[in-house]
Amino acid sequence: MLFLQNLDFEGKNVFVRVDFNVPLDEEGNIRDDTRIKAALPTIKYLLEQKAKVIIASHLGRPKGKFIPEFSLKPVSKRLSELIPQEVILAPDVIGDEVIKLKKVLKENQVLLLENLRFHPEETANDSTFAQLLAQEIDYYVNDAFGVCHRAHASVVAITQYVKKSAAGFLVKKEIDYLSKALHSPQKPYTAILGGVKVSDKIPVIENLLKKADAILIGGAMAYTFFKAQGFDVGRSLVEEDKIDLARLLLNRTREEKVNFLLPSDHIVAAEADPGAEPKTVDSFPLPPDMMGLDIGPKTVEKYSDILARARTIFWNGPMGVFEIDTFSRGTKKIAEAVANSEALSIVGGGDSAAAVYKSGVSDKISHISTGGGASLEFIANETLPGIEALTEKEK
Ligand code: ADP
Ligand code: MG
Repeated sequence: MLFLQNLDFEGKNVFVRVDFNVPLDEEGNIRDDTRIKAALPTIKYLLEQKAKVIIASHLGRPKGKFIPEFSLKPVSKRLSELIPQEVILAPDVIGDEVIKLKKVLKENQVLLLENLRFHPEETANDSTFAQLLAQEIDYYVNDAFGVCHRAHASVVAITQYVKKSAAGFLVKKEIDYLSKALHSPQKPYTAILGGVKVSDKIPVIENLLKKADAILIGGAMAYTFFKAQGFDVGRSLVEEDKIDLARLLLNRTREEKVNFLLPSDHIVAAEADPGAEPKTVDSFPLPPDMMGLDIGPKTVEKYSDILARARTIFWNGPMGVFEIDTFSRGTKKIAEAVANSEALSIVGGGDSAAAVYKSGVSDKISHISTGGGASLEFIANETLPGIEALTEKEK
């Protein structure tokens, strides 16, 4: 795979795929510009190298239609405040007007294309559309890790129609960290898995079974595993149709000799509600009218102990309903344990990242992935369509 340093960008037209899918408020103002800022090192580097920079992103889900509220106009405005160069917003991503703009692009200007997802061909990974995106383009740079698990035209097909493709700084950093956990984890390697669904995370669990020394389970997911062992979990969230699968996974944990731990105590309440009265329970059956909403203090202690000795940690999925203070303690304490360990620590997943920021320990985590789905899929499949596309072009 090529990286930015491997190419000479001077005078080249470079198509940079970024993830500017920022949250907007009702008036269309950007609520959080983290994603724009995250792509700046790559954009600035390319400009310093005297490349002509053409930026493309998706925003929201316009579902293949031109919908003004999904225009990149606010992004264009914000970007122009963050870089000294003039930002020109193209009226579309393809077409005569865009080609003209690509041709006349000068130094000290960047061209921001409109929302890629105004065209249904984008998510269809359509090769004709990709070819049009690649018109007047020399090199392609992917700096949008958050979409690397999607085989979309601006992520995969486009690499067929440019001279060279490379990974941007953000994508490189993600690959570097996630690869460490996958291919050369320092031992002991501890994985923490939580969140709601087992079904979302089956391939991740399967991969971790082979690699991790310990897997610590929390969140609602734990109750599907408990139920698979015949325990009465009250009204806790259970994926009834995944109970057999959970049983199979439990059997595999014994074959793989991984230390697979489920919570030893629980914070239960009648509802996942701020007003609900919490109760700590350390044996089954759980009260029939209550649901498990966080891991209990004994579990926190046990998991923290294991995390203190870990040398590599991968975490996905909150330990409880962290959005509600009453049920956020387990997640917060585990975040602190991860932060305090000497391990290389990686957090993946949208809610998991939010939980770590909320816990105030994000500075002490080695890497918080910018791609929720992408990081999980990378851990599960050891590669991603967007990364494959960069590599194939290399061969
Ligand atoms: P990520 O986005 O990091 O991959 P998930 O989306 O899988 O994480 O899970 C996050 C959600 O899981 C949170 O909204 C949280 O409230 C919920 N959750 C965690 N534990 C429980 C539980 N015991 N019962 C119900 N919901 C839970
Ligand atoms: Mg989530």
